[in-house]
Amino acid sequence: VTYCIFCDILSGIASAKFVYRDDICSAFMDIHPVNPGHVLVVPHSHCALISELDETSVGHMFHVAQKVDVALRASGIKCEAINLFLADGRSAGQEVMHVHLHVIPRFHGDGHHLRFNPSYFKLPSSAELDKNAEMIRNQLGDIP
Ligand SMILES: [Zn+2]
Repeated sequence: VTYCIFCDILSGIASAKFVYRDDICSAFMDIHPVNPGHVLVVPHSHCALISELDETSVGHMFHVAQKVDVALRASGIKCEAINLFLADGRSAGQEVMHVHLHVIPRFHGDGHHLRFNPSYFKLPSSAELDKNAEMIRNQLGDIP
């Protein structure tokens, strides 16, 4: 097993400033906050990708993030809006390979952006949208 800072935090070997804990997920302060109040919601089960995580943990992670979102807005911390951000894989910007959901307070003029490079955008044809939708539908099937 490779070293995982989040597993160390969850087991108490490393310290963190917790805002919430239950049997499935914990939430603690990001030590490199994008803005003050930046919280990470982390499922206790060690998985790198959400595809590896059990459905209960995935759902609960978002449920806890919703509660953190509500708490942040009421907390007095500067927060006009919130980004929920999950990097699922290294090429998407994931640095700690243990699933985590960022809850990031945002406000006008905070100097941050979460945007994709417009110079790489290509308007897809209707046929390409159809093809890509079909490729995804073929894998999805029914969701119970
Ligand atoms: Zn871990």
